[in-house]
Amino acid sequence: MVTSLGAIATMSLGVILLGFAIWRWRENGLDAAIWLVSFLATIAIRAPHSLRNRRNVVVADRKGGIENILLGGMFATMMVFPLLQLATGIFDFANYVLPHGATWIGIVLQVPYLWLFWRSHADLGRNWSPGLEVRAEHGLVTSGIYARIRHPMYAAIWLSALAQPLLIQNWIAGTLVIAAFAAMLFIRVPNEEAMMRTEFGDAYDDYCARTGRLFPKSWT
Ligand code: SAH
Repeated sequence: MVTSLGAIATMSLGVILLGFAIWRWRENGLDAAIWLVSFLATIAIRAPHSLRNRRNVVVADRKGGIENILLGGMFATMMVFPLLQLATGIFDFANYVLPHGATWIGIVLQVPYLWLFWRSHADLGRNWSPGLEVRAEHGLVTSGIYARIRHPMYAAIWLSALAQPLLIQNWIAGTLVIAAFAAMLFIRVPNEEAMMRTEFGDAYDDYCARTGRLFPKSWT
């Protein structure tokens, strides 16, 4: 009950911030508007998977203090700080200005980001979860984009994290996400792979042998 009240309060606050951010789009500029559109697309891609996968039964997980801190860091730097800034301008003192070309790189990066984010959700299907979990009847996905890369969703989020400081030109709302996601990857990926190895044994080792983490093996 307490959790669901907390979730409702967080979501309401998010919707209010989003409303103000959209309302102020002219003041924030085209680059921030593109970030907002991409943010909305991200939510639209993820929402049906979140709703469906809530019904899954969890049989093992690797959640805990550090994982929660890392997820909190991502939530703050990818959602709360940018929305707060675009809705209120509260971090204006930390703004910087990049040449126009940088904005265009940020815009172009949204295309591979959204495609990879959508594709990895579609391929993982009911095996996706925001935290490190193994579900009842969890299947090892080795097809689609997962036939070549083990962490396409993280590769996608990297693209988004790299684009964010180009579109929201602010040290707090734009740049901090890079540090938060680097920490997340550095700690989470080995933990996730260890969990998958415990669950799937040799099948996971074979899978690792033919795939790369963020890039296809033939590229590295
Ligand atoms: N690291 C992956 C998935 C992120 S979602 C990516 O970047 O695309 C995290 C959850 O996905 C983990 O809790 C794990 O249970 C699940 N998962 C990761 N790789 C998987 C795979 N190949 N098959 C099935 N589930 C997987």
